[in-house]
Amino acid sequence: MEACLFCKIAAGEIPARIVYRSERVLAFEDIRPQAPHHILIIPREHYASLEEFPEDGGSLLAEVLLAARAIARERGISSSGYRIVLNTGRDSGRRSSTSTSISSAAGG
Ligand SMILES: [Zn+2]
Repeated sequence: MEACLFCKIAAGEIPARIVYRSERVLAFEDIRPQAPHHILIIPREHYASLEEFPEDGGSLLAEVLLAARAIARERGISSSGYRIVLNTGRDSGRRSSTSTSISSAAGG
């Protein structure tokens, strides 16, 4: 099965503006930003939807949220606020794997 777009980014096969990287999580700027700060955060392992997450996958989900917090702090928007959206599954509007996006209307 061909890797999805996000897996290709995680593998370094497709270039992206990486803003955060850990052993299990990767974050990069959205190629079509809808806000001054628009970052996609993905587990490096492919999960087509939240349904595929193991029951004991809570620590990975927490790591995604903590990555969002770290990115927001780095960009100076942690106190002014931002929105976190979890996209999962075909009808979420995202064609690739499960992703979390962080966006802020402010310029930071
Ligand atoms: Zn994938």
